[in-house]
Amino acid sequence: MRTLPTRRVDLLVVGGGPAGLAAAARASELGVRRVVLVDERRWLGGILPQCIHPGFGFHRYGRDMTGCELAEKLIDRVSSLDVDVYTEAHTVRMGYESYLSKTAEVLTPRGAFRFRAKTVVYAAGARERTCFEAGIVGSRPAGVYTAGEVQEMMDVWGILPGREAVVAGSGDVGLIVARRLTLEGVKVKAVVELMPYPGGLLRNVVQCLEDYQIPLLLSHVVLAVEGSKRVESVLVAEVDENLRAREETVKRIPCDLLVIAVGLIPRVELLAGAGAMIDPKTGGPVVNEFLETSLPGVFAAGNALVINDLVEHAMEQGELAAESAYRFIEDGGFRSASWKRVRVGDGLRFVVPQLLAGFRDVKLYLRASSPSENTRLLIPELEKSVRLRSVRPAEMITLTLKAEDVLKAERLTIKLV
Ligand SMILES: Cc1cc2nc3c(=O)[nH]c(=O)nc-3n(C[C@H](O)[C@H](O)[C@H](O)COP(=O)(O)OP(=O)(O)OC[C@H]3O[C@@H](n4cnc5c(N)ncnc54)[C@H](O)[C@@H]3O)c2cc1C
Repeated sequence: MRTLPTRRVDLLVVGGGPAGLAAAARASELGVRRVVLVDERRWLGGILPQCIHPGFGFHRYGRDMTGCELAEKLIDRVSSLDVDVYTEAHTVRMGYESYLSKTAEVLTPRGAFRFRAKTVVYAAGARERTCFEAGIVGSRPAGVYTAGEVQEMMDVWGILPGREAVVAGSGDVGLIVARRLTLEGVKVKAVVELMPYPGGLLRNVVQCLEDYQIPLLLSHVVLAVEGSKRVESVLVAEVDENLRAREETVKRIPCDLLVIAVGLIPRVELLAGAGAMIDPKTGGPVVNEFLETSLPGVFAAGNALVINDLVEHAMEQGELAAESAYRFIEDGGFRSASWKRVRVGDGLRFVVPQLLAGFRDVKLYLRASSPSENTRLLIPELEKSVRLRSVRPAEMITLTLKAEDVLKAERLTIKLV
């Protein structure tokens, strides 16, 4: 194979969504030289530019913004700094050569390059689960799209994807898209949810469905798509307590659009290909309290690390990853440590970061397995107990631990009781 022109950089940021933009900006502000940001899309901002609804940035800026407004803010911040930005730049392969040299092969309109970087912040976001992954069978006519595709068609390209829709999945993404379709005059016949509770925030259930009289079918599943050229109907059924469809309840809903909003999966192929350890519980990489993956000097942030409910979490992870990269470059790496793996106990799906040593205070990101009221988050080894009025899988739980407490503990378990 022809050797690619090589560019040496201090920090390579893969992905120009909110996590990657925050990382590039923070690193440059700290004084990291030769910061390069690459994104495969034509414009920066990741998911944000296709989100014309509000709900972004309130916790950070004290003002409720649309995704587009927040994207503009972040892009302006990066543009005012010394960051070399490549758009339409697709990273096809990453490699780990040595402690201070990681490689990334990137195809850009300016040519194909091999970046050789001291540090990498990997912020490639997530992909949407497909109808195949949701187990929906039947024919494959036009009119089956993921929620992100529908959002981009309508709000970036001005294309109406259908006239009568069924939405599979009641996470925030499904709820917001159902409202958006309604506002454009599409009749949303139902939002279908497998679980007995909605997957998204309660305020979104009210503001996106109830306010528009869109039916929410809980404990229901979309089984199949019918239609030859175009979707003509979908088959929907109730599920039993084992989440299996009850055949006697199957009904046909005529529609010309099926929107798949059944969850996001971190995009980790490049990281995994370079040898990073992946956590099956989050789908993202295993990281320590510096958000460093098992590849020294390679950090992860945003939805590529863990699916975030709030954009602020993705941004703060980007900034922390950048601060870690700065420290790594300044000190030529991190001191070796004996990492303690945080064990996830009852009531929780996962914890990020998974490895702690007590170098710094650390914010943990957690998700509950199911909704409950009046619970406590417990870390028995630290005799720490935090009362929570209500927890829901849709909402990330966060908890900050002091470095000295982590240092003291021999092991760490976290659970909900
Ligand atoms: C439909 C929807 C609605 C949402 N609504 C809200 C809301 O109201 N409020 C809120 O706070 N949050 C909301 N969120 C969540 C928020 O958008 C995410 O938390 C945030 O966008 C995650 O940022 P990110 O930078 O990790 O990923 P992304 O925004 O996905 O950005 C990742 C970037 O990486 C690039 N990339 C991927 N692979 C490569 C590669 N190989 N080479 C180069 N570039 C690559 C992609 O092109 C993309 O630009 C919503 C999310 C969705 C999907």
